[in-house]
Amino acid sequence: MISNSTQTDKIQTGEDYINSLRGRSLKVYLFGAMVEEPVDHPIIRPSINALAKTYDLAIAAPELASVISPFTGERVSRFLHVCTDAKDLVLQNKMQRKLGQLTGTCFQRCVGMDAFNSLYSVTFEMDKKYNTSYHERFKDFLTKMHRSNFVIGGAMTDVKGDRSLAPHQQVDQDMFLRITKRTDKGVYVTGAKAHQTGCINSHWMVVMPTMRLGENDKDFAIVGAIPVDASGITYIYGRQSCDTRAMEGGTIDVGNVKYGGQEAMVIFEDVFIPTEYIFMDGEFDFAAMLVERFTAYHRRSYVCKSGVGDVLIGAAAAVAEMNGVPKVSHIKDKLVEMTHLNETIYATGIASSHQGYETKSGAFICDSMLSNTCKHHVTKMPYEIGRLAQDLAGGLVATLPSEQDLNHPEIGKLLRKYLKGKADVPTEDRMRMLRLIENMTLGRNAVGYLTESMHGAGSPQAQRIQIGRAMQLEYKKRLAKIISGVIEEEEKDLVVEELSGYFERVFKI
Ligand code: SF4
Ligand code: FE
Repeated sequence: MISNSTQTDKIQTGEDYINSLRGRSLKVYLFGAMVEEPVDHPIIRPSINALAKTYDLAIAAPELASVISPFTGERVSRFLHVCTDAKDLVLQNKMQRKLGQLTGTCFQRCVGMDAFNSLYSVTFEMDKKYNTSYHERFKDFLTKMHRSNFVIGGAMTDVKGDRSLAPHQQVDQDMFLRITKRTDKGVYVTGAKAHQTGCINSHWMVVMPTMRLGENDKDFAIVGAIPVDASGITYIYGRQSCDTRAMEGGTIDVGNVKYGGQEAMVIFEDVFIPTEYIFMDGEFDFAAMLVERFTAYHRRSYVCKSGVGDVLIGAAAAVAEMNGVPKVSHIKDKLVEMTHLNETIYATGIASSHQGYETKSGAFICDSMLSNTCKHHVTKMPYEIGRLAQDLAGGLVATLPSEQDLNHPEIGKLLRKYLKGKADVPTEDRMRMLRLIENMTLGRNAVGYLTESMHGAGSPQAQRIQIGRAMQLEYKKRLAKIISGVIEEEEKDLVVEELSGYFERVFKI
């Protein structure tokens, strides 16, 4: 079997993609044992199906989910595209919402997309300062990825050890991925990345520093691309709430039988990165720029949750209907509230993309204030939407008997009778809808819809720091002082003055 990293046939369909993952020599652990073939594992497969959907959508809606590659001239996934105008950024968000709607979960492909969009401009600016050749190398790598239409994972989050210490101060130096050896052919890295979304379902991953670095952290300033089946990598699969239901063989109790998310811990033991795949090596002063740009993209990618929210709102509305109360005013009002919250997430994310601007490299980046605002909403609003969905579902969402009981020759009849809502709705349909709500608010996909919403792309405090940095209080105080008469300045001066930062973008016509 050819290694996934050297495959030359271009992946087109979801099925091609699934086949491309077969037969790799990945070292994946789950429940204390090596997984023989991840593709066929009942817990892992739903996450692969979710990613496969990104390929199928590109065929069903090519304008939405694919682009013509500037490198190969062929159609490739939009997830592999470097944005060159604000419309590109906006279309990423539209594609993400649609995929959230189609899968009801995390489809795992945005981290890589956001990583290489930021790397495109950061490598360009690094080269300008240091006369290096990272940008050309990076473009060569992207061209290779486009040829095969691969999935690239982004690996940023180090395990971090003692949070009060810089990487070089850690007692165990492996708490942040670091270079352990340099040769004339490349570097060797050791360390671990936690919570890696879709890593086992990717073909390549790009490792990046997780935070601002200082001069003593040069060995931690490494960005490089690695095939996921490279020697020295071990994956330890992350458990998800209720994950073993996928091994019970039914279709009801899992809630979402086809789709799920994936996170794993990735451990690197002297993994080799050849020079051609190194895009930062020691330029510690660019780590902060990379992290900030990545988060500007990634925090508005969380509009994915508005697509997932659409599914949950639909489930809550459907269950109310099955209970015979769709027109009751407080129920309608709760659905309105859920929709309002959901659209607030989408609104800030899409606005961040619309307000995108050009970097020196020509790549477009989204507005960081609105991106952070979007992600900050995402740390709260899905929880409230989930609370309202559980409210509308009623207590059965947490006390429902099992699928086996429903199918039991004796008690099944009783359950079908006593768990009925509206007379014309089959009990099984009502159970399915309740299980979906359970799945998204307590079960497997609550990992993506709730906790990943909290911590993915940075926990809430990380966004507050960014918002605090960019909020331009001096400017706002001046507005207040002029209007209150504390200082005398003509309003017209305010209209024509040159602005910087967020407000420069707000008023740019
Ligand atoms: Fe994409 Fe959302 Fe999953 Fe992140 S959480 S990879 S943005 S689908
Ligand atoms: Fe994420």
